[in-house]
Amino acid sequence: MTEVIGRDDLLLLTLDTLRYDVAVELAAAGRLPTLSAHLPEGRWQRRHAPGSFTYASHQAIFAGFLPTPAAPGPHPRLFAARFAGSETTAEGTFVFDEPDLVTALAGRGYHTVCIGGVGFFNKQGALGSVLPGLFAESHWEPEFSVASPTSFEAQVACAEQAVAALPDEQRIFLFLNASALHQPNWFHLPGATRAAGDSRETHAAALEYIDTQVGRLFEVMRSRRRCFAIVCSDHGTAYGDDGYTGHRLGHESVWTVPYSHFFLEPSP
Ligand SMILES: [Zn+2]
Repeated sequence: MTEVIGRDDLLLLTLDTLRYDVAVELAAAGRLPTLSAHLPEGRWQRRHAPGSFTYASHQAIFAGFLPTPAAPGPHPRLFAARFAGSETTAEGTFVFDEPDLVTALAGRGYHTVCIGGVGFFNKQGALGSVLPGLFAESHWEPEFSVASPTSFEAQVACAEQAVAALPDEQRIFLFLNASALHQPNWFHLPGATRAAGDSRETHAAALEYIDTQVGRLFEVMRSRRRCFAIVCSDHGTAYGDDGYTGHRLGHESVWTVPYSHFFLEPSP
């Protein structure tokens, strides 16, 4: 990352609430053509979330603690705030003195943009302003929210506008929190009803919806120069697994998340 920072644009896309098992099943079944084309070897990495719900996980991610590979470590990190005794800061780790990655990137010439999705990014009230407040520019509209069936395409359109507004030479760090997978998500499955509610199947349909739109986001992010992209979930969620429903709890379906990073080479 020491070579990437300052050279490339950066994209952090959190697919909020996406379960690892659903992501893997859909990729294996060929139901995620766009995402799979970018994942190294077409596969998601299995990782452990740094928090069990959005606020905790994103605070950790912005502090440099991305989801951890789900195997015994230590695992070197891409980004790390400087502190004595860190055993996962390695050669190549981008080490910063600021308290969070967003502020650190701003200090190295990046324009930082937040496109919010779930409630912790809605800027309505003090708590919903904490995470967007880290960024130079932040956006949230009701159309980006969990209740919108067209949330991701609206968020991607916002990203296209944010990139277009910048001078070509300006490096950008764009963070987008996709809300489509977070409950409610039943409306992404054709024929599903509000009464039947959310399920693993409607969760899968929401991920397929993301895949139909994410190519536009990748295109705009590679339109000016090479872009280093991180795509991951912040936590999973339970649909009755062992009796659990939802997240902010300690269950395999919540702690295990899909992760990937890759380069988006500049468009010709
Ligand atoms: Zn979340």
